[in-house]
Amino acid sequence: MTNPQPGSETPLVLELRRQLACLELALGQINDALVITDAQGSLLWCNRRFEQLQQRPRLQMLGSTLEALLRPQLAGATVPDLNGLVRERPQGGLITLGWQREPPLVLELEWGPVQSEQPTPFVFSFHDVSDRESLQVLQQQSSELVDQQLALAQQVVTCPVTGLPNRRGFAGAIQGALQRLQQQSGWLAVLFCDLNRFKEVNDTFGHQVGDQLLIELARRMQLVTRADDVLARLGGDEFVLLCTGLDTPEQAILLAERLREAVSRPWSPQGVNGAIVIQPEISIGISFSDQGVETPDRLLHDADLAMYEAKTRTDRQIVVYDEVISSQLNRRIAIRRSLQNALNTWAIPVHFQPWVCLHQAVVQGFEALVRPLDLQGIPIAPADLIAVAESSGLMTSLGQLVLEQSLVAFKQLGLLSSGRCLAVNFSPQQLARPGFAADVIGLVERLQVPPPMLCIEVTETALIEQPQRTRDALALLREAGFRVYLDDFGTGYSSLNWLAELPIDGLKIDRGFTASMTVDRRRHTLIAAILGLARDLDLDVVAEGIERPDQWDALRSLGCPLGQGYLFSRPLPAQQLGQLPSVLLPTTD
Ligand code: C2E
Ligand code: MG
Ligand code: MG
Repeated sequence: MTNPQPGSETPLVLELRRQLACLELALGQINDALVITDAQGSLLWCNRRFEQLQQRPRLQMLGSTLEALLRPQLAGATVPDLNGLVRERPQGGLITLGWQREPPLVLELEWGPVQSEQPTPFVFSFHDVSDRESLQVLQQQSSELVDQQLALAQQVVTCPVTGLPNRRGFAGAIQGALQRLQQQSGWLAVLFCDLNRFKEVNDTFGHQVGDQLLIELARRMQLVTRADDVLARLGGDEFVLLCTGLDTPEQAILLAERLREAVSRPWSPQGVNGAIVIQPEISIGISFSDQGVETPDRLLHDADLAMYEAKTRTDRQIVVYDEVISSQLNRRIAIRRSLQNALNTWAIPVHFQPWVCLHQAVVQGFEALVRPLDLQGIPIAPADLIAVAESSGLMTSLGQLVLEQSLVAFKQLGLLSSGRCLAVNFSPQQLARPGFAADVIGLVERLQVPPPMLCIEVTETALIEQPQRTRDALALLREAGFRVYLDDFGTGYSSLNWLAELPIDGLKIDRGFTASMTVDRRRHTLIAAILGLARDLDLDVVAEGIERPDQWDALRSLGCPLGQGYLFSRPLPAQQLGQLPSVLLPTTD
């Protein structure tokens, strides 16, 4: 084709040329790339945008098929069979192409026939939808992110072992239930369930078995709960159950009973050599709300306190929280803190109460009695401290501390060579611990205390709870030269026959007997019989709790050798022992 000379063109041709130039200019300005092919797909025309996409001038592309032009540009997987597509859909269609670029382009390719022409050319337009695509990708990514965040959030509220909600998840559930309860009538209960002796399972069979047991317990508990109840694991061996929509509080107690029953069936772990049968047992504390005004923390705390009470009681394994329990438990918690503090600092106040020879009130020795204070300095009853130490497994350490501290005080006061004895109370738990006797012997050797100086006071309970172990320990201690006294004699299952069999050197008549012997003839006779028997068995006797001169007289006339009581002296701090006269004139305060 030859270009006509400008001067020879007719006005119409000039006008057409002008319009074509405008059209070219306009089509070059738009963002879409445009291509016109003939019926076989060879390029007849394209706009500037297509040139830019191809990075080559139109003249170099004329006559090439569109497919051949596109192939090097398209991402491998998305190269379409353009001829085939156009044959299939000659009326037009739309496909999406991925253009190899950095950043990648996403183009929508739309085609349609130019119906007025024969043979039919096709117009292809390439519309850049990268932004839309990246938006979708972004949306997809962000929905993945949301999923991930949801999964993370799920982990934050779920226990990984049992799949149950954890403390956070549970607090959320209570919060919602409390809000609903403000608009409804009825009751809501939180059941705090703690598996007894779970630590033993973990320590003996390993954590895998421990985890298996937790999963099994979660399963069993879920079987007895109702659809709306929320069971959660707070950690360790603690499970909690939220029950809503209760008509009466008793329904929660019945549910607690069912839970205990379901849990307590024997269970055997899998994958463990040998037949192991574990009998799980839970203690349950329950707190209630009927107005929905409590906080989740309050309800959990109260149920926890009630559970703690259930754990320390032998008669009940299900306890409902109430104010009385709360104050008792808070006291126990304060005692426990002071005990822990004493053990951390390895120091606890100990007082000493004299043993006197009843004939002349001459001091023969002292009984060490612990005098604990709580962290506010308020005295704690020794029996309460002992009870808390025993229930929290700290009794052995406490006993060791009292023994060491008393012996050290005795040594510092120069009483080791005085011929006076030191009596120390040992609890059943201490005596039953393997290696206990050896530890005591070691300590006494280290402090260079002559063994006959140390009198060990044990109660009958110690001998009843673990008869063989306790007897063995006492036998070892006596062999080492210590003396053993049976404390509070007369308060337990005392049988006089029994006395002959026990590995003891003496007994202490309980203060209840002493108190009543001057008013109750039969008690008087009983003490006379005990003293007679003790003489025959060559046992020493100390009468406890002598408060009045008539009690002293009565005991003295029956030939009771030793006594202890406020009449002679109250328990005294170690510093006062130095000034104590060797004969104690009775006081009557
Ligand atoms: P216990 O071993 O029978 O100690 C005698 C208790 O009677 C002491 O009470 C003592 O203060 C009290 N007492 C002594 N004379 C009289 C009196 O004339 N009248 C009255 N009403 N009471 C008198 P305390 O110190 O409160 O100790 C109570 C119990 O706590 C002790 O009874 C003992 O079983 C236990 N205990 C105290 N300290 C220890 C200890 O270090 N270890 C162990 N395992 N138990 C201890
Ligand atoms: Mg005692
Ligand atoms: Mg006693």
